[in-house]
Amino acid sequence: MRTVIVCVFLGLVIYLLWPGSKELPAQSAPPAAAAVLDFDSPDSTVAVVNKQRPLPADYVPQDLSDAGGVPLRAEAAEAYRQMTAEAAATGVFMSAVSGFRTGDEQDHLYVSYTGSFGQEEADAISARPGHSEHQTGLAVDIANPDGTCALEACFAETLAGSWVASNAQHYGFIIRYPAGAEHLTGYAHEPWHLRYVGTEHARTMHDAGTTLEEFVGLPAAPGY
Ligand SMILES: [Zn+2]
Repeated sequence: MRTVIVCVFLGLVIYLLWPGSKELPAQSAPPAAAAVLDFDSPDSTVAVVNKQRPLPADYVPQDLSDAGGVPLRAEAAEAYRQMTAEAAATGVFMSAVSGFRTGDEQDHLYVSYTGSFGQEEADAISARPGHSEHQTGLAVDIANPDGTCALEACFAETLAGSWVASNAQHYGFIIRYPAGAEHLTGYAHEPWHLRYVGTEHARTMHDAGTTLEEFVGLPAAPGY
C-alpha cells in the first residue's frame, strides 16, 4: 500500500515538474483598458449636466481662475487664455461674456427669463437652477468684441463663431449645443456656448460630430 502511495506521489511530482507536461491554454491578450469617463462627479472635466442631470444646488468648484474677465476652473481658464491668444494672433478676437455661475445666480437668471418670456421660452433659452452647465465652471459663453450676433444663432457665421467651430477642439472646448441636436441636448444651437472637456475628448467629439451625451453613453435629455 505504501509503495502504491509513493508511486502515485512520485508520478504526480514528475507530472508537475516535467517540462512541457502541462499545456496551458493559450493566453488571450488582456482587453484594452476601457475608457472610464466619470460623468457623475461635479469636479470631473467630463461631468454631464443637463435637463435630466442637476448639480448639487450649492456646488462651487474650488479652483476658479480668471478667463478673460469671467471665472472658469483653472484648467479650462488656462485653455481659454491660450485659445484666445492664438486666435488673436491670427486676427480673430473674442470676449468672454459668461463663465461660472452659482446656483443662486442661475436661479435669478431663470426667474427673470420666466417673468419676461414665460416658462416655455425660458426653458428653451436658459437652464433651471442646478441644471446649468455654467455651474461646473467648465462652460464659457463668448462673443465678438463688437457684440455682433451676441447670444444669437447668427453668431455661428461671425468671425469668432466660425473660428471656434473649426478650432476650439484643439484647446479642449466643444460647441456643447450643436445645430440639429436639440432632441439630444435639450437646447437649440448655441454656437457661443463652449464647454471644456480636454483636448483629447474635444477632438474626438468634434471629428465624430457627437454630443457629450452620446460620447459618454448617456440617454438624450430633451427636457426636464
Ligand atoms: Zn452658456
